[in-house]
Amino acid sequence: MNGKVEIVGVGIDRVTMAEAVDRLREYLQEERCSMVFTPNSEILIEAVKDPELEEILNKGQLVVPDGIGVVIASRFYGMPLQERVAGFDLMNRLFEVGDGLGCRIFMLGGKEGIAEEAAEKLKLRFPGLVVAGTRNGYFDAGDEAGIVEEINRSGADILLAALGAPKQEKFIFRHRDTLCVKIAMGVGGSFDVLAGRVKRAPEFYQKAGLEWFYRLIKEPRRIGRMMRLPKFILLSFYDAKTK
Ligand code: UDP
Repeated sequence: MNGKVEIVGVGIDRVTMAEAVDRLREYLQEERCSMVFTPNSEILIEAVKDPELEEILNKGQLVVPDGIGVVIASRFYGMPLQERVAGFDLMNRLFEVGDGLGCRIFMLGGKEGIAEEAAEKLKLRFPGLVVAGTRNGYFDAGDEAGIVEEINRSGADILLAALGAPKQEKFIFRHRDTLCVKIAMGVGGSFDVLAGRVKRAPEFYQKAGLEWFYRLIKEPRRIGRMMRLPKFILLSFYDAKTK
């Protein structure tokens, strides 16, 4: 399986988790900064409304389907994706690869102190990884050049940007030419999970494609965001029919 399936205007790589990990391994051998994005249905809806985000996602070197909605939508286009490649899981596989290679990671994002807490937990799990630097995700546009300089000075191979979507995708894209990292990946709220502040759904829910349901029970105020899933399914259905 290869190539991309274009879902509501965004090309999604038709890769399995194993193939995505192979790609990450290749990127670590290259000199350029490869952008890795993991859109779910919410972000794809956002991209329909925001042409800049759509363009950015389409320029990513690796764009994987984070969410059952994206996998369902691919079927409407007659190019079914084999499986969901959750951003959080892909990030953990990247840690495994990086652990073996002694990679240096810069963790940018989350509230004050969260990236540091996540880094501590990470060092216990992956002693071969070097956390080259951390920084919270709350800054002004004027601070960005300094942050990029800090990342470059740290000698990081991998930048994890946990700024939430679409802030992280825009940050990575804006600085792709000046960032000296080999992989820049948007990882949403992952540092909160790594730090143990937010729990992920039990495996049963993940395997059944019901992670969204688990999160809804835990955080009922997410109902507004959740309603974007059926909206996305309808949107992609009509988009595919008119192709
Ligand atoms: N965040 C940040 N800077 C901002 C806004 C958000 O670092 O200006 C962080 C926030 O602390 C949280 C994450 O980005 O850790 C967003 O998490 P959420 O679960 O909302 O994002 P998603 O994974 O759904 O994109």
